[in-house]
Amino acid sequence: MTSLAPPLAAGLASPTPEDLRDYLEVEHRLGAHNYKPLDVVLTRGQGVWVWDVAGRRYLDCLSAYSAVNQGHCHPRILEALIAQAGRLTLTSRAFHNDQLAPFYEEICALTGSHKVLPMNSGAEAVESALKCVRKWGYREKGVAEDQAEIIVCSDNFHGRTIAIVGFSSDPDARRDFGPFAPGFRCVPFGDGDALEAAITPRTVAVLIEPIQGEAGVIIPPPGYLKRVRDLCTAQGVMLILDEIQTGLGRTGALLAEEHEGIEADLTLVGKALSGGFYPVSAVLSNSEVLGVLRPGEHGSTFGGNPLACAVARMALKVLVDEDMIGNAARQGAYFLEKLRGLGNPLIRAVRGRGLMLAVEFAPEAGGARPFCEKLKDKGILCKETHRDIIRFAPPLVITEKEIDWAMERIAEVIG
Ligand SMILES: *Cc1c(COP(=O)(O)O)cnc(C)c1O
Repeated sequence: MTSLAPPLAAGLASPTPEDLRDYLEVEHRLGAHNYKPLDVVLTRGQGVWVWDVAGRRYLDCLSAYSAVNQGHCHPRILEALIAQAGRLTLTSRAFHNDQLAPFYEEICALTGSHKVLPMNSGAEAVESALKCVRKWGYREKGVAEDQAEIIVCSDNFHGRTIAIVGFSSDPDARRDFGPFAPGFRCVPFGDGDALEAAITPRTVAVLIEPIQGEAGVIIPPPGYLKRVRDLCTAQGVMLILDEIQTGLGRTGALLAEEHEGIEADLTLVGKALSGGFYPVSAVLSNSEVLGVLRPGEHGSTFGGNPLACAVARMALKVLVDEDMIGNAARQGAYFLEKLRGLGNPLIRAVRGRGLMLAVEFAPEAGGARPFCEKLKDKGILCKETHRDIIRFAPPLVITEKEIDWAMERIAEVIG
């Protein structure tokens, strides 16, 4: 440990490989082993680029799982954060603060929502939505007490709380963490008939990702989400779209639902609502569902705090002002075309929408991890999802030139 603090404190210009080993060793010894990161220790970021402690530069193709859509250390968000941090950071919701109302106004105007519930992490937004639709089901739909059911999809990813992992279909997410909350039914993603068959008078909501991110950028068949929307409307079921990863420009639209011409009853946003600076999430809804909450029934000490609101306001503003959403659409199409040009017979599929892209390898390729390791050595950071898929999701400020730079290296490693 002794060698860890001094180099950082001194801003040592060229740490040795020993220093890197120290960081990894200390993390391994003192931290829970719930992640398997690549062996790179980052110390600085700007736009699409990050630098490690030895001064090597990398193009970030993960964007913290789409939490830094606006690019690392965006100067205007940084300025908003610093200004607000020097003024007022936390009041709790026992009192009002002067950032919450403008945050509500701006996010409602931008997304066409009627009501907002501010939380911190994505998982909390999901949990909050589940509570709200249950209460709505009992109070408004007339479902008998404790009988509410929520339909979810196979291969979903909605976070890591006990309730959420309880309806995951991933054995690693569930194993040894039970018993789980009842009241969830799982149907295959992309199968409208299965969903229709699963809806009963007890169904209060369907919870779905418009594109499944962690599952490997799985885009449902055309017309599927429209059918889900129509089924929900016809049966009096609330449609919850988890846009925590797909939302806020990632797919080349503000919300992925726009590609399908539908509107959810509840939309969950998080990740990039932070601009990568400070965790903020929100449940956006029509007034019917969030309208059921009464004082004391739900809350969060940090939810809606002025620092979070100031950061989120600027995170949304730069997305729009700087045309990051349009850029995601244009550069995403360009990147996708280039990835499709990779002539490797071990590539089974290349897919994506906007800057949410994935390359899937055939099982014979031996997994995606070794490709990620090699890409890292060439200056590109990305992460495998499941065994055989690499996701490419750079910040939305990426340029065509930077994609060309990346493609040269990607072609060397997986071409
Ligand atoms: C990341 C993610 C979450 C969970 O967000 P956390 O902030 O990690 O709790 C939920 N849903 C989706 C689709 C996500 O990608």
